[in-house]
Amino acid sequence: MDFSRWLNQQAPIPVQSDADRHVQELLDEDVLRDVQGGYEAMCCRCGEWRELYCGPEEIDIDYVHYCGGSPRCCP
Ligand SMILES: [Zn+2]
Repeated sequence: MDFSRWLNQQAPIPVQSDADRHVQELLDEDVLRDVQGGYEAMCCRCGEWRELYCGPEEIDIDYVHYCGGSPRCCP
């Protein structure tokens, strides 16, 4: 079998962008969790999972979330 024919029979490799990989890393590290329509992060003060206000691509792996739900939940 010639190489180009062999190549065409292989399953395409899914293209994963850097942003996707970054988000996946955040999910794997439990920095974020996937919810319907967005992402949540755990507030470092009250321990509740709350909506992430920015995009997951804007935060780093060492992100610390403040939900802002009460005065103690602010940085
Ligand atoms: Zn909080």
